[in-house]
Amino acid sequence: MTQTKAPTLAQQKKEALFFQRRNGYDRLTPEDREAMEDYCQGYKDFLDQGKTERECVDAAIALAQAAGFRPLERGAPLRPGDRVYRSNRGKALMLAVIGEEPLSQGAAIAAAHIDSPRLDLKQNPLYEEKELAYLKTHYYGGIKKYQWTTIPLALHGVVVLADGRSVTVRIGEDPGDPQFTVGDLLPHLAADQAKKTMGEIVKAEQLNLFIGSRPLGEAEESERVKLCILDLLHEKYGMIEEDFLSAELMAVPAAKAVDVGLDRSAIGAYGQDDRVCAYACLKAMLDLEEVPKTTAVCVLADKEEVGSLGVTGMQSAAFDVFMSDLCQSQGIPLKACYETSLCLSADVTAAYDPNFSDAYESRNSAYFNYGVCLSKYTGSRGKSGASDASAELVGTLRRLFAQHEVIWQLAELGKTDQGGGGTVACYMANRNIDTIDAGVPVLSMHAPFETTAKLDCYMTCKAVKALYHI
Ligand code: MN
Ligand code: MN
Repeated sequence: MTQTKAPTLAQQKKEALFFQRRNGYDRLTPEDREAMEDYCQGYKDFLDQGKTERECVDAAIALAQAAGFRPLERGAPLRPGDRVYRSNRGKALMLAVIGEEPLSQGAAIAAAHIDSPRLDLKQNPLYEEKELAYLKTHYYGGIKKYQWTTIPLALHGVVVLADGRSVTVRIGEDPGDPQFTVGDLLPHLAADQAKKTMGEIVKAEQLNLFIGSRPLGEAEESERVKLCILDLLHEKYGMIEEDFLSAELMAVPAAKAVDVGLDRSAIGAYGQDDRVCAYACLKAMLDLEEVPKTTAVCVLADKEEVGSLGVTGMQSAAFDVFMSDLCQSQGIPLKACYETSLCLSADVTAAYDPNFSDAYESRNSAYFNYGVCLSKYTGSRGKSGASDASAELVGTLRRLFAQHEVIWQLAELGKTDQGGGGTVACYMANRNIDTIDAGVPVLSMHAPFETTAKLDCYMTCKAVKALYHI
């Protein structure tokens, strides 16, 4: 038996005074360790089902209905414990569980987004050149364009036909489905390309999706490859070329969500920004068993990657209308609800990447396996564009997370003046709602294959559950 020496004075003082940061695995309870694996399996399934905001809404509604949620009817009475949702044009979703206290005491809101960077098809996309058929794309969100070449892509979306019928497209996901790709130049001939800057290596107008090369019909005809593609589309979807005008089609990475690492500690998948937080918020809401004290609200927003604008973005009045419909059932003014509400803007942040350490400030970075990451503010340069949460709000969450055994950290996105980013936080705060950013640290954010730590994914759901028990 070894004798333990009494701690020195310095050791005692350090223990009491220093901010001790510890890896989440050194703090994880056995119960959480087990629940984490189950949670992450559900999350990976959700990622495979929802590769577009529309698909995420469909998947979320299916889960919500199974958990007893029903569409919110304007004017219908609402009782504590009622579970309601409203889809905003099939691209965004709002859910609520009515609490015991009136909405004048505020709501506990978790807001995440379900749109992710991708290659949208242009409205007149199909062309043939040198007997190869391509679809023109217009990238959506902030991407490193070169990353979207030479990977298998799937085609998702909807086409509204001339008669108004809407057909759903999803090609490249089922076993045996064809897939698509954007080409890149072979290294043997890349002498000129190698001299270019990152944004110029592959230009936006080179992000053309290869869709076919087999000619249809007689040799003397022109555009026979394009004709063959249109013939196939017509056969499968009843569409003609003009129908692309009223279509929303997008190329997304075809790969499925997988475990990453020999120890399976991480998840690799497309679209984790921000479906990782969207699933955390949704799951926390669906798992609410008792009637919460405070009304719990979950928002899955669209268009965050392009500024939260438009009718389905977080700046849209759709959220205010949903909240005001809830408030009206209790005869409470919306503004009285907002000013006492609390919002977690659940969005991802940058995980410290030791391979690119120059971009980070190590003392204020988010780390893999250190839990859900709070960001007091986001923005760029001198906090420009930031919604800066108050010290009091951070204090409230410290106490809440301690009470609910949430493993968490607090960080900024990269080093100052290196770049920056924003979330929906400012649009919630502008509504007079106390708001703070919280989410999962991600490696290779906005790449076609993003990586997260299972522990952080699970802890983000636990953080939202804590919020819903406020
Ligand atoms: Mn995001
Ligand atoms: Mn993003």
